[in-house]
Amino acid sequence: MIIIMSPKATQDDIKRVEERIRMAGLSLHLSQGAERTVIGVLGDVRQLLPDSLQALPGVERVMRILHPFKLASRDFEPNPTVIRLPGGLEIGSSRLVVMAGPCAVEDEETLLETARAVKAAGASVLRGGAFKPRTSPYNFRGLGKEGLELLAKARKETGLPVITEVLSPQDVDLVAEYADILQIGARNMQNFSLLQAVAKVDKPVLLKRGMANSIEEWLMSAEYILSGGNRNVMLCERGIRTFETYTRNTLDLSAVPLVKKLSHLPVLVDPSHGTGSRDLVLPMSKAAVAAGADGLLIEVHPRPERALSDGPQSLMPPAFEALMAEIRPIAEVIGRSA
Ligand code: PEP
Ligand code: MN
Repeated sequence: MIIIMSPKATQDDIKRVEERIRMAGLSLHLSQGAERTVIGVLGDVRQLLPDSLQALPGVERVMRILHPFKLASRDFEPNPTVIRLPGGLEIGSSRLVVMAGPCAVEDEETLLETARAVKAAGASVLRGGAFKPRTSPYNFRGLGKEGLELLAKARKETGLPVITEVLSPQDVDLVAEYADILQIGARNMQNFSLLQAVAKVDKPVLLKRGMANSIEEWLMSAEYILSGGNRNVMLCERGIRTFETYTRNTLDLSAVPLVKKLSHLPVLVDPSHGTGSRDLVLPMSKAAVAAGADGLLIEVHPRPERALSDGPQSLMPPAFEALMAEIRPIAEVIGRSA
């Protein structure tokens, strides 16, 4: 349920409504806009009588929320969420954020070479997996803690904040010690104990859409993190499974404007996993920016033919530089900078 206060409502009016909600044993989310305050009620709202709330001074309207997600919804929080990293980077503001780097952290030299290249091209976050979710147990599954240390080294040298995936609840504290943003991968979108664990750390979380999950399930997973106490959640569309076989996944770009309508959370797009094919990364990046994405997550590798994972979808640094140049004018046309 949400309670929309009138623009003329006083602080006392708002307090009175808050008290009424708390007396019913429920909690609330307050959104203070420039014009008016919106109060979202969390919990079993059946015991709150809309008519008695409506009668309170300063209350303009009481509405039932139709969506099962609350804290993630635009109804609860009409203002877009802007996530601020300690170094000053903002995610969800008018500036497009590009996160780029290798699929996996492989060795110090390759990581530093890639980090320098993506920084020079204009990326603002370095990506790289230290814990890799691989379909085959015989494939390279990441360097673990050593990979995190290499990411920290690359951050120190380039100044780029780093994003890396956390695979299991018991690794959350370790990964949070090193990473600036924690990534929840597609395969773990509904790993509810992992979602509850990242809700308890003081680091932003990028939540990828599961490859076979609906938008509602995705937003319910975001709700786990938000309701668990971490309000710095961004979403990332990375393609879903369909009958199509020419692409690794089908990149659902309609999810971008749709999720931005349903939710206030920033939405990024990963055209690398979304297509699985290097040639499609540039056109789908342009399309993602045009569709209103707040940022991109792109795999870059200096020698993709030797990459230990996802070489076929990784861009070489010159192609990444060209991509940055091509998305800039598109960002500007839709009122963003890049
Ligand atoms: C990744 O970004 O490294 C990754 C494994 O992606 P996804 O979870 O989308 O498959
Ligand atoms: Mn990858």
